[in-house]
Amino acid sequence: MLEPKPLNVAEKEVASSEIRVGILLLEDGKNTASIHIDAPIRCLNDNSPQALSEGRLVEPGKYSVIARDETVELRNESGEILQSTECLFISPSKSAFPKKTLSISPIVAGRSFHWKKEIQADFPGVFEIKSHNGFLEIVNILPFEHYLACVVVSEMSSGTPVEFVKAQTIVARSWAKCFLNEKHPGSSYELCNDDDCQRYHGVTFAAEDSLNASLQTAGQYLVSEAGTIVPAYYSKCCGGISEKVEDCFGFSAAGISSVTDGPRSVNAHDTAKWTSSEPTEDESLFCGGDPDILLAHLGGVDDAGEYFRWKHREEATSLASYLNERTGVTDARIVTDLNPIRRGKSGRIHEMEFIFETIAGNIGSYHSRTQYEIRSLLHPSFLFSSSISITKEAETFLFHGAGWGHGVGLCQIGGMFQAIAGRNNRDILNTYFPRAVIKTLY
Ligand SMILES: [Zn+2]
Ligand SMILES: [Zn+2]
Repeated sequence: MLEPKPLNVAEKEVASSEIRVGILLLEDGKNTASIHIDAPIRCLNDNSPQALSEGRLVEPGKYSVIARDETVELRNESGEILQSTECLFISPSKSAFPKKTLSISPIVAGRSFHWKKEIQADFPGVFEIKSHNGFLEIVNILPFEHYLACVVVSEMSSGTPVEFVKAQTIVARSWAKCFLNEKHPGSSYELCNDDDCQRYHGVTFAAEDSLNASLQTAGQYLVSEAGTIVPAYYSKCCGGISEKVEDCFGFSAAGISSVTDGPRSVNAHDTAKWTSSEPTEDESLFCGGDPDILLAHLGGVDDAGEYFRWKHREEATSLASYLNERTGVTDARIVTDLNPIRRGKSGRIHEMEFIFETIAGNIGSYHSRTQYEIRSLLHPSFLFSSSISITKEAETFLFHGAGWGHGVGLCQIGGMFQAIAGRNNRDILNTYFPRAVIKTLY
């Protein structure tokens, strides 16, 4: 996955706006979608103010949208065509965020992952539905601030501390502003609804107190000393030290640096010691806190406790099959050595050489150049992080690892621990972005 460079957005260019989010993409390959509505909607052929008053009023019920070459049909449950147009707009007859305008299925989640699945999701705002060669494209148009609130709360349980919700919203807002139109160039939407942009499931999982906390930060951005919006990356757990953006993505970004996730400075030079530090908690680092405390607050973190320090073992022959399945290599039989070539400040490996024996008995090698690919080549699905020490034991490799995700920018687990300990959103953001300030820009 090639990471696009963030846009250089000057703080004075930033204004309140709407966003176009792709929620059903052409690449999803769907020609039909079901929609459920609970309150009347208007269906129009264009979204001008005049059209809104003239649009067809559609009563609550179940409907479907069907792509036919270059036109879209809206049908009722008995299959009768209510509207047939090149571009179908659906608008709530009265806008009432956070109420949904409609539910849509299928919505594809985890597009590029092995766990890809189809769900039904509830969305607020307005919809633009088009057909290209008989495939549907649905774009959800809504105020940028509503979009952010949905993004932030959809990953959180209702027990998430309010100050963390605020910190995460400011981060998600700053990040999104720097990547509008960058992730899917040439498309008719600015960001998509999936993890490559930011996961957006509308109001499906929205808890009202979290939504409100998020909306309270409207217009607040992380701004660098150069007066630009910080492309504020975030990941689940840094592992104790956040990663340097240059080490991870190969470009610099004003306002992001590598920091210790705790009150005193540490380093990850001795990776074996760093990644296998026992016990698995380290109270001197924010994200190294007692996992039971998080669990008590959130009532169910994925793989609770496995994010700060963890172990994973792989058969050397399995590693060979991942190379065969996921790279241009075709004849690896067994991996014999893993040689880290370049590590970042957080201990993450960004370049690694895989040495293997081929089926014919020759020696081969594969050079991986991103932490993202390295993680995909060391696990049946995806290794938590590439901050690992590697021990070869007979025909297996044992990885002692630290952190979860790329580790650049905000450490979500560390931020949650800080909020639980009573620190506010400014304290939290100052830990991970000491070279940025929070400014209200609209
Ligand atoms: Zn995307
Ligand atoms: Zn951390």
